[in-house]
Amino acid sequence: VSNVPPVKTDVEIAQEATLRPIGEIAEGLGLTAEDYEPYGHTKAKLSLGILDRLADRPDGRLILCTAINPTAAGEGKTTTNVGLSMALNAIGKKAMTTLREPSLGPSFGMKGGAAGGGYAQVVPMEDINLHFTGDFHAITAAHNLLAALLDNSIHQGNPLNINPKRITWPRVMDMNDRALRNIVIGMGKVGDGVVRESGFEITVASEIMAALCLATSLEDLKERFGRMIVGYTYDKQPVTAADLQAPGAMALLMKDAIKPNLVQTLENTPAIIHGGPFANIAHGNNSIIATRTALKLADYVVTEAGFGADLGAEKFFDIVCPAGGLRPDAVVVVATVRALKLNGGKDKKELANEDLFALGTGMVNLEQHLENLAKFGVPALVALNRFPSDTDAELRLVRERCEALGVTVVLSEVFTKGGQGGADMARAVVELAEQESSYSPLYDVEEPMHAKIETIAREIYRADGVDLSPAAAAQLGQINADGYGNLPVCMAKTQYSFSDDPTRLGAPRGFRITVRELVVNAGAGFVVALTGDIMRMPGLPKVPAAVGMDISADGTITGLS
Ligand code: ADP
Ligand code: MG
Repeated sequence: VSNVPPVKTDVEIAQEATLRPIGEIAEGLGLTAEDYEPYGHTKAKLSLGILDRLADRPDGRLILCTAINPTAAGEGKTTTNVGLSMALNAIGKKAMTTLREPSLGPSFGMKGGAAGGGYAQVVPMEDINLHFTGDFHAITAAHNLLAALLDNSIHQGNPLNINPKRITWPRVMDMNDRALRNIVIGMGKVGDGVVRESGFEITVASEIMAALCLATSLEDLKERFGRMIVGYTYDKQPVTAADLQAPGAMALLMKDAIKPNLVQTLENTPAIIHGGPFANIAHGNNSIIATRTALKLADYVVTEAGFGADLGAEKFFDIVCPAGGLRPDAVVVVATVRALKLNGGKDKKELANEDLFALGTGMVNLEQHLENLAKFGVPALVALNRFPSDTDAELRLVRERCEALGVTVVLSEVFTKGGQGGADMARAVVELAEQESSYSPLYDVEEPMHAKIETIAREIYRADGVDLSPAAAAQLGQINADGYGNLPVCMAKTQYSFSDDPTRLGAPRGFRITVRELVVNAGAGFVVALTGDIMRMPGLPKVPAAVGMDISADGTITGLS
């Protein structure tokens, strides 16, 4: 008989947690009854008025949590992010975490939920991973309202002279469903609308999601809606949501979704979870409103940038911080020995075996991220998210290689031990945040569009250059002619590699980046550059996570991770 206790699943650990009523969490932050609106016992919407009321209060320190290039399972950014906020509290600091809301696509698909793992989770994890407070459904509704108004305008005599072949506004749904990528709509009789090709994207790729996360107020969000381009006229003039008189109705669908959601960690640390753009197809960070609110309420705010630092962190520094007037103080780069070995060519099935050669080879991935992050002027450290299979020799190798670059490495054991397992990490982060941060974006936003893409490709990905497809070259001409050339760039690229080829791990060299398509998101305030095969509507894997899920008669959920 084994004396090792059975390993609990994330959902089992979450179900054992003792949650405090959300009013107590809010009051612990100094909030009063007008500042929050309970959604049940353990969730609340925070009022936007908090930002005005506390405008004069100095901001806390902002810590960005990012990572090496991910493998299929994720490297533990959310786990580390949540664990670090718990650990900072455990060493006597007032800290909060801000995170993105999980999408149903990955929850039922391959990646699983996004509420952390082990003893470093935000709760109620089932609610957070499922419909939460309905924000994503509101976004879906606002997005599809605009689509309906657009198709209706064409059907009702097309007064705006919209060319149905140049419509750029798809419909969205928060699900991985490849069958809806390309569809024909408007089939049927005369009254059934105008026939045209269209398609669905996942809600987290919606421009409304990006705009929500970059907006600083409801007024700002409404103005962003007005600028959104839905397509072009027969004489190639942009048609906007304002032309369709849609922004007012879209904004009222968002009246609650714009308010950040307050929850707690397993150790009752306050957490704000709001908005959820993916980092490969969008900008990959929670809402600016959430981060700014947290900065007024806590001395340390830990926020997550999605996927690897080549995507999430680059966009955080080049898009989010300028839009929100944020000044990050420190960066935590999450890495695991397993993922580094995978980057060094080790077989996926053998990652539990010690292999100093593969680890040493794969370290180039972490080293390139560290070199890149230095270009933004924010001090960084490495948090090694510990797995039971990591050997002392492997941990030593990572430490030595990072120290050669002058970068501190801390071990994080928050997955198995909660906040106590992150005390060293928390102390190192406090020390790092005391250092001078000389944050600046990578590029000057006023540079020409192609130069900005070239700068990201050369400096961050280490590509030899950028090639535009004929379609993208034509789109670039239109973007410049329409006056959108001075927007920042949101790269849509595979998360698995620095390059646009998901199979090239480590630190590839000798490649070029091909931009297939350029799309103006005038409301979000960036131009999306699509590379490689990256898709805005994911599909499900052969065995989707959904098939292992269930709920019992008493409401107990199983299979959610
Ligand atoms: P990311 O935010 O980088 O995608 P997550 O924090 O969501 O990563 O973690 C991805 C998965 O890995 C989760 O299911 C989590 O429970 C698991 N995980 C994270 N850290 C550990 C660890 N130290 N040991 C075992 N599993 C872990
Ligand atoms: Mg995550």
